[in-house]
Amino acid sequence: MHGALAEFEALLGQAAVITDPVALHEFRDPFTYRESDQWDAAAAVLPTTTEQVAEVVKIANRFGVPLWTFSQGRNNTYGGPAPRVKGAVIVNLRNMNRVIEIDEDLAFAVVEPGVRWFDLYDALEAAGGRLWTSIPDLGWGSVIGNSTEYGRGYTPFGDHAENICGLEVVLPTGEIMRTGMGGMSNSQTSHVYKHAFGPQLQGLFQSSGLGIITRMGFWLQRRPETYASCWLSFEGDEALAAAVDRMREFMLDGTVTNYPVILHGVALDDDGNPSFTPDDDLWLARFALYGRPEIVDAHWAACERVFGEIPGLTLRRRVYDGTDRTSHAGHEDRVMAGIPDMDILELFQSVYGEDTAHLDFSPVGPLRGSDVVETAHLMQGLYEKTGERFFSGLMLSPRSVIHISTMFFDPHDEQQTAAVYANYSAMLAVMRERGYPIYRTNLQHMDEVAEQFDFNDGVLLRVNERIKDVLDPNGILQPGKSGVWAKRYREQNS
Ligand SMILES: Cc1cc2nc3c(=O)[nH]c(=O)nc-3n(C[C@H](O)[C@H](O)[C@H](O)COP(=O)(O)OP(=O)(O)OC[C@H]3O[C@@H](n4cnc5c(N)ncnc54)[C@H](O)[C@@H]3O)c2cc1C
Repeated sequence: MHGALAEFEALLGQAAVITDPVALHEFRDPFTYRESDQWDAAAAVLPTTTEQVAEVVKIANRFGVPLWTFSQGRNNTYGGPAPRVKGAVIVNLRNMNRVIEIDEDLAFAVVEPGVRWFDLYDALEAAGGRLWTSIPDLGWGSVIGNSTEYGRGYTPFGDHAENICGLEVVLPTGEIMRTGMGGMSNSQTSHVYKHAFGPQLQGLFQSSGLGIITRMGFWLQRRPETYASCWLSFEGDEALAAAVDRMREFMLDGTVTNYPVILHGVALDDDGNPSFTPDDDLWLARFALYGRPEIVDAHWAACERVFGEIPGLTLRRRVYDGTDRTSHAGHEDRVMAGIPDMDILELFQSVYGEDTAHLDFSPVGPLRGSDVVETAHLMQGLYEKTGERFFSGLMLSPRSVIHISTMFFDPHDEQQTAAVYANYSAMLAVMRERGYPIYRTNLQHMDEVAEQFDFNDGVLLRVNERIKDVLDPNGILQPGKSGVWAKRYREQNS
């Protein structure tokens, strides 16, 4: 390790290589037991260019040092900045933070890994405001880290992985590669045409640990003339099933183009501020309409008619001009307009104070009303057994739904933390029975989740391992990411 650290310092300068053990605590997962040193990194390096990243990877190969990377390292509830193996060197990409290009006509941006949602939003506004980005609930994460992990936002561009067009990647051997049309050095279409000549390799680098992404094209939404933030509230199973089925039809026929969310366990005041509610029957659904005012009005009339058929359901909307970026009521109205903030942290911290941690459980199911009701009951029952507060956000796509539910805990309490992680395993087993796979998980459960993909004796994992061994022959990069271990680790553990 000493030799590698000396070479990192020679390459990047002393200030860009962190080795002080206390300073490295910043890169612990804040949502595990706070005193645990289980995944402590040996060092963190902060490159500023793709070429430096490539050199870091080559040094790591020479010394057999495992690397872990993040873009902003705010992946809280899915591991935060922490590596999966103790003693890894973190490649912290926060200082590669340029918005390289914004094309207002063709509606895309090209960003480096350290670019946060806040930064992209500011850059788009500064460029003239004709483009909106989709954003997750918290603005401090990175565009690349979130999108590569299949992160979600809430505008029509809310499936962030779908917006990726053209990656620049440092491979585990230190080679620099561009995917798709970017494979041609003077390509004019790297970020506007999604397919490739031959296989599209872009997906290889999503949630995989097979490369360090140093640049990414990201598609954006044309600013709408009008935006309407719309809400449904209703109670009970029948209304939930009916609302889900109607929302699916609206998404499939293009009336609703964004990614709606159905919330359980929260109530909103008139200003759009959320608070937790103990009312077990209450559901809130949020969706949005965008476009020319005539179209938004016509779609709203259709929503009023069709959702209005559900007994006891109430609807409301707030309408904004597309150029208005300042007067939105509350986080919920802002997030569906792509205006980043950190407001919901306050709600989450209301449980155990500033350090409140939570573990999100994220199985994916089909978007059928009856299935959603059954799953909600199943989840609620699991929560009742553990005594946890049931807080759930259903993330809708036209055909599927991610049933995100959240278990809060105090990360300073070792026993409580361990109990929550154990509950997660129990919930995994139940959802495995139901055939609902997990789309994203924390460090502790990556192997358990990977093993659930058992078709044909787990061929999927074996193929992932084969690809890993070819691209990363020394097993340097992101060992154990998504349950995929390189040969040297598999041999160690067998
Ligand atoms: C209160 C709360 C609300 C949240 N709301 C949302 C939400 O609405 N939507 C949502 O999607 N998530 C949400 N999250 C989860 C998570 O915090 C966000 O997704 C966050 O944006 C991820 O952090 P990041 O962007 O800094 O990613 P990072 O931590 O930088 O990266 C995440 C992972 O991606 C990989 N990676 C990152 N960068 C690279 C790279 N350059 N090359 C190769 N691999 C890379 C690494 O494996 C890394 O561990 C929420 C979390 C909390 C606590």
